[in-house]
Amino acid sequence: MLDISFQINGKSTNASSFQNELESAVYEEIKESIKQSVRLVHCSVHHEYPKIIVKGKDLNSLSIEVNGCCDTLIESTLAKLQ
Ligand SMILES: [Zn+2]
Repeated sequence: MLDISFQINGKSTNASSFQNELESAVYEEIKESIKQSVRLVHCSVHHEYPKIIVKGKDLNSLSIEVNGCCDTLIESTLAKLQ
């Protein structure tokens, strides 16, 4: 299965990590849009899904890191996220 995790300010983060509803809504929105973009990406050689780590110091300065079984999977994931 597709794996998306968030590390904000060096800490792994989920919806309940946020103090206010606005931030947790933004978090859910980002997560959902990444999920939609890469939902069809799958490695046909290794039958793996990408692992995505969204990192940044806060929700406004996030960058996306992609890990996977091979460069082909990583490249096709990155292409979807453009
Ligand atoms: Zn692969």
